[in-house]
Amino acid sequence: MGLEEKLPSGVLLTTVEGLAGYMRKAAFWPATFGLACCAIEMMTSGGPKYDLGRFGMEVFRASPRQADLMIVAGRVSQKMAPVLRQIYDQMAEPKWVLAMGVCASSGGMFNNYAIVQGVDHVVPVDMYLPGCPPRPEMLIDAILKLHDQVQHGKLGAHRQKQILELEEQGLIA
Ligand code: SF4
Repeated sequence: MGLEEKLPSGVLLTTVEGLAGYMRKAAFWPATFGLACCAIEMMTSGGPKYDLGRFGMEVFRASPRQADLMIVAGRVSQKMAPVLRQIYDQMAEPKWVLAMGVCASSGGMFNNYAIVQGVDHVVPVDMYLPGCPPRPEMLIDAILKLHDQVQHGKLGAHRQKQILELEEQGLIA
């Protein structure tokens, strides 16, 4: 059958980059990783009322090797920072990080020696979400914005950006 006969049934044209972005966005799995009170709102987002499953994200992975997204839900203590970094390193490429709430983003009201003043001192962050705690709608909105970045980003560009950020912060040599 020639192309002209097939056209009425519909022809889909795309690029490898477009297809990869669509696939990544459609199966974007977060790591099971909660640090403090913000994690309660994160868990609520996965429940039946807010239903993250609508966006292909109902599967919070217990193994970082199966996760694409780290949601840092809560303040990061100095003692927890190396553990968080180890989990991040165990996640397969490509991977994204969402700092959920003011504590994860900047230390928030915990301006003291025990708390990391922003998780971007430990891992590169792709999305900062304000609030104390951010409501599930806000988390879902941030995730959808991240979906947009994942779907329309250039292949490999995200990793390059992460490496540059890590180098600038002296987190890798
Ligand atoms: Fe808890 Fe608020 Fe900090 Fe979230 S931002 S971890 S809710 S104190």
